[in-house]
Amino acid sequence: MAKRDYYEVLGVSKNASDDEIKKAYRSLAKKYHPDVCKEPDAEEKFKEVQEAYDVLSDPQKREQYNQFGHDGPNMGSGFGQGFSGFGGSGGFGGFEDIFSSFFGGGSSRQTKNGPIRGRNLKVSINLSFEEAAFGVEKEISITKYDTCKDCSGTGAMSKNDINVCSSCHGTGRAYVEQNTIFGRVRTETTCPNCNGTGKTIKNKCTTCKGEGRIKQTSKLKIKIPSGVEDGQTLTVSGKGEAGYNGGLPGDLYIQVNVRNHEIFERDGLDLYMEMPITFSQAALGATIEIPTLTTTGNLKIPAGTQTGTKFKVTGRGITNGRTGQTGHLYVIVKIITPTKLTLEQKNLFEKLSKTNEKNESFFDKIKKFFKS
Ligand SMILES: [Zn+2]
Ligand SMILES: [Zn+2]
Repeated sequence: MAKRDYYEVLGVSKNASDDEIKKAYRSLAKKYHPDVCKEPDAEEKFKEVQEAYDVLSDPQKREQYNQFGHDGPNMGSGFGQGFSGFGGSGGFGGFEDIFSSFFGGGSSRQTKNGPIRGRNLKVSINLSFEEAAFGVEKEISITKYDTCKDCSGTGAMSKNDINVCSSCHGTGRAYVEQNTIFGRVRTETTCPNCNGTGKTIKNKCTTCKGEGRIKQTSKLKIKIPSGVEDGQTLTVSGKGEAGYNGGLPGDLYIQVNVRNHEIFERDGLDLYMEMPITFSQAALGATIEIPTLTTTGNLKIPAGTQTGTKFKVTGRGITNGRTGQTGHLYVIVKIITPTKLTLEQKNLFEKLSKTNEKNESFFDKIKKFFKS
């Protein structure tokens, strides 16, 4: 199924302000909240809205989405889990602050001992000029706290070792009743028996000692979209460190370093190169062979071309995978003055020099200037 555009999901324009996005999100999330909405696809719609908001409310993710759309490394599609905000243990992850104001809080309140999100990680990756231009799939190796494979993050030796907490019956909450001047008041706290997880473990996993996560080095395949630039940071959702107590994983930030090219320089999607030409090619005009990023091409130089003249080769720059926008190649010609001349060439240049003196009025003016 084709993914809907995030702006379309929230019903806002591409240049909507943060406030407009927040407002649209609040009203849609309220409308489709599965506790409230009885439409059969409410949960799907709610997820969609939440995912759109997660990206558009984060300036970095939003910029990346604008540039690469759903195909960006942040956008889940090629990357396993992608967004995982919905249905994590304990309710609605980072959205609790908003929902508690709608629904009076309680059921999904986050506590100190409840699910804790994993840390975000930052790595850098070196790309060749071509890899950045065309996109590439890279395998990187990261050492981080990851979900323990032996227990799938449960922290238990086996499934049979996980029991519903007998004190809170799985809710993770406990209630304290106190007598006050207003009468008896019931206060909610985290269940001390299970630290708010709602579960107790009889025999802990020996690999992670019941933590559910363990520091390990793993390999990760990263799809770098075409057109990335030096210094740009890409976000891979959910590939940071694993969370605690069923908390969501953090994000992985990848800073891109792009190596220089021997021939081309880059400005956005445009490429620039210097092309040496001979004096006679410049004077008489010529068709010269030029390199492009993918192959070679021909460039026509008109007679009387000056050194430093810039020629535009349309559509031979870099293509942005998302927008389909393609830059141009600019060729700046440099006339090479010969240093070693054969006798024949020397004679020819001397002949030429005499004709130049007759023709070039500008040089005549300079001569007169020195004489006066
Ligand atoms: Zn408990
Ligand atoms: Zn384990």
